[in-house]
Amino acid sequence: MIAIYPGSFDPITLGHLDIITRSSKLYELVIVVVSRNPSKDPLFTVEQRIQQIKQTTQHLPTVEVDSFDGLTVTYAKKRQAKVLLRGLRVLSDFEKELQMAHTNKTLSNDIETVFLATSTEYGFLSSSLVKEIAKFGGPISHLVPQHIAVDVEKCYGKALL
Ligand code: ADP
Repeated sequence: MIAIYPGSFDPITLGHLDIITRSSKLYELVIVVVSRNPSKDPLFTVEQRIQQIKQTTQHLPTVEVDSFDGLTVTYAKKRQAKVLLRGLRVLSDFEKELQMAHTNKTLSNDIETVFLATSTEYGFLSSSLVKEIAKFGGPISHLVPQHIAVDVEKCYGKALL
């Protein structure tokens, strides 16, 4: 069975990687898809994020990386994916994720949203938090893969010049 894991991944964190690693043991193929959602103002371009995720997941042979524009269910159908993966951290995630899952169900009844609970150590972790810390020069190497920490620090280093 093919699953897609859609998100912003701006940038990918150890929390995302944990979800990808665990789901890769459950499905034949997991496609991590970067949303080209224009309503957000991202730190990295979609192409940069794709490269970052590819590098982060290169040790996982059943993980693919792509991007999509438009409805997630349209992309899922195109790739014959029956599962849409999302991660849950806190109660506030649940409310918006459930609304999204119900909405997607009305759009395509044969695609199921599957929620994976965060691992305890990553329950607090988000891409926004990583950016917030980096913006003020704090350490992020315990929150993201090493090469991502370098990329993020470069961005804020440049912004301060
Ligand atoms: P989006 O803008 O679509 O929410 P994100 O990149 O923020 O994109 O998140 C993608 C998915 O990964 C979401 O389902 C989110 O709940 C999940 N996620 C993000 N961080 C974590 C984490 N630390 N642990 C588990 N799931 C997470």
